[in-house]
Amino acid sequence: MAGGANDSDIIGIDLGTTNSEVAIIEGGKPTVVREDGEAILPSCVGLDDAGTVIVGQQARNQAAAAPERTVLSIKRLMGSGTQVRMGTDAYSPQEISAFILKALKERADRALGRDVRKAVITVPAYFTDAQRQSTREAGEIAGLTVVRIINEPTAAALSYESGAAGSRTLLVYDLGGGTFDVSVVRIEEGVVEVLATAGDNQLGGDDFDALILERLNTHLETELGLEHAREDRLLQARLRQAAERAKIELSDRPWVRVEEDHVGSVDGEARHLAWELSRADFERDLQPFVDRSLQAVTTALQDAAVRPSQLDRVLLVGGSTRIPRIASVLAERLAQEPHGEVDPDLCVALGAGVQAGIEMGQDMQAVLVDITPYTFGTRAAGELYGEPYAHQFVPLIRRNSKLPATRTEVFYTVFEDQEEVDIKVYQGEDPDALKNVEIGTFLFSGLNRHRDAHGQGLLFTYSLDLDGLLHVHARERATGREIRGVVENALGRSTDEALGAARERVSALWGEAGGESPAAAGDAAAAVPADVARAVEESLARAESALDAAPAEDREEMIDLMEDLRDAVREGRVDQASELRGKLDEILFYLE
Ligand code: ADP
Ligand code: MG
Repeated sequence: MAGGANDSDIIGIDLGTTNSEVAIIEGGKPTVVREDGEAILPSCVGLDDAGTVIVGQQARNQAAAAPERTVLSIKRLMGSGTQVRMGTDAYSPQEISAFILKALKERADRALGRDVRKAVITVPAYFTDAQRQSTREAGEIAGLTVVRIINEPTAAALSYESGAAGSRTLLVYDLGGGTFDVSVVRIEEGVVEVLATAGDNQLGGDDFDALILERLNTHLETELGLEHAREDRLLQARLRQAAERAKIELSDRPWVRVEEDHVGSVDGEARHLAWELSRADFERDLQPFVDRSLQAVTTALQDAAVRPSQLDRVLLVGGSTRIPRIASVLAERLAQEPHGEVDPDLCVALGAGVQAGIEMGQDMQAVLVDITPYTFGTRAAGELYGEPYAHQFVPLIRRNSKLPATRTEVFYTVFEDQEEVDIKVYQGEDPDALKNVEIGTFLFSGLNRHRDAHGQGLLFTYSLDLDGLLHVHARERATGREIRGVVENALGRSTDEALGAARERVSALWGEAGGESPAAAGDAAAAVPADVARAVEESLARAESALDAAPAEDREEMIDLMEDLRDAVREGRVDQASELRGKLDEILFYLE
C-alpha cells in the first residue's frame, strides 16, 4: 500500500485490446464510469476527415471505411518497438495507447469534476517486462502517473470477492479480444493471492474473427470468382467487421447469414455476398484454440497444486467467454458450471478500481498479493541436454514467486583485471536462454579498482517490483561499494527525452481534438477536455493581471473575450473556446 493515506484521486483502468473501461472511487466503492449509458470505450484511435484525433466508437465506426487512418488492437504491439501508421504519420504503440488513456481519464475527470492525475492500470498476467514498461510509459505520455500495474485476472478476482469472509479458491478464465489468461486465485479473509497463472498473449477474439474471415475469403475466391479479394484492404476491413458481427450473433443462435453488397466485380458485373455459417462449423474451426486454452488451464491448476474439485468458483472474464462452447467445454473439464454473476466486461476495471482505492489509503477490505507468471534469469556457460553450451539459462526468480521478489547471487570476475561485466536478463522457462525473451542487458563497469577486490566477487541483486518490472543492482563484496548499472538495451524502455517528446506530441494533437470528440461522447458531455480547460484558465489568469495596465480599447476587447471564453467553456463549445483563447493570447502577446 505504497504511500498510505492519499487524498488525491486515483482511477482504475482496464486498458484492453478491444475495449477499455475506467472506474472511479465513489463513497468508498469502485464504479465504472458510463457516458450516455455506455461503459465500454472501444480501444480504437483514428484521425477523422479533418485530421482530428478521435477515440472510441467513432474511430471504430470509420475503421472499415478509412483503415489507413484508424488503429485497432494496438495492445498487441505494446513493447514490440514497432510503429504504426495513422494518416501520414507514424506513432509508437505507447502514443496510440496514450490517446485511449486520455479519453478514459477525461471520462473520469468529468464524472468526478476534478482533474485526475494518477491511475492503476491492468495488464494481462502474461505481459512481459517490455510490455509492462510500455504500458507505464503510455500512462506517462497521457499525463497519468501509473501508481501500480496489476494483472487482469487478479483484478477480476479483486472485484468479485474483496472482503468476503472465509477462504475460497477461484479459477479466473479471461478470454478477451487479443489475449488469454487463466489464473488460480485464493482469497482468504480479504487477502487475494494469485497461486498460479498461465496463458497466451496472442490468443483471443481477433483470432476467431480471422477464422470466419478466412472462410469468407475462400467463398469470395471460389464461389464468386473474386481472385484478388485478399489484396483489397478496404474490402478486408469491411469483411473483418462482418466476421465479428457474425461471430457475436453465433453466440445466440445456431447459424448466421452474412450479406454484403458490392464486394467486387467480375467482367464488369457486380458481385454480392450472401453466405451462411453454422455454429457447428465455427466451433469446429475454434477447437484448436479451445484446446490451447484448456492446456493453459491444466498448467495453472498443476502449478497451483489445486484439483478441479477444490475450486470454489470459476469466473468467466472477457467478451469472448460469451461463446457458448467456451463455457460448456470448461464446465465439462472442471466438472462445475462457470459463474455467471460477474460482468465479464466490467470486472477487470472494477478490480483496478478496488486497487486504486487501496492505493488511496481507503479501506477496501482487500490486500493484493500478486506473483510473477515468468521465471527471470541470466545465462551462463554450462550444459544443455548433456552438451557444453554457452547460453545455459540460470533461473533467479522462479515463476509463481510472490511479488515483490528479490534474489542475490555472487558473481566472480573471470580475469584479474576485468573491469566490466554485462548481465543479460531473460524471462521464460526454456533451459536454453536464447529461446527465452530477452529483457535487456545491464552493464556494470569500474570493477576491481581495489587490488584485493578480485576474487571476492560481486553481489548481484535482482528485484522484481510489484508491477512485475525487473531491477538489477550490484555491490562489490570486498568494499561494499555499490556499482551503478547501466541498462544498455532494456527493450521497450524509452528515455526521458523520448517520453517528454511523445507527451508533447500527443497533447498537441489532443488539445485541438478535444478528447473524445463530441460525437463520440454525446451531448451530455458539456465539458471541455481538461487540457483545454487548463490552457483557458492560464490565459484568463494572465489576462486578469494584464487588465489594469492595458490601454482602454484593448481592455474593453479583453473583457468581452474573457466573458465569451468563460461562456464557451461552461457550455462545452471546445472549438470556440480554443479560438477565443487564441485571440486573447494574441492581445496578451503585445501587452506582456
Ligand atoms: P479485451 O479485454 O481484449 O479488450 P473484451 O473482453 O472486451 O476484450 O472482449 C472483446 C472480444 O469479445 C472481441 O473479440 C469481441 O468480438 C468478443 N465478443 C464480445 N461479445 C461477444 C459475444 N457475444 N460472442 C462472442 N464474442 C464476443
Ligand atoms: Mg480484457
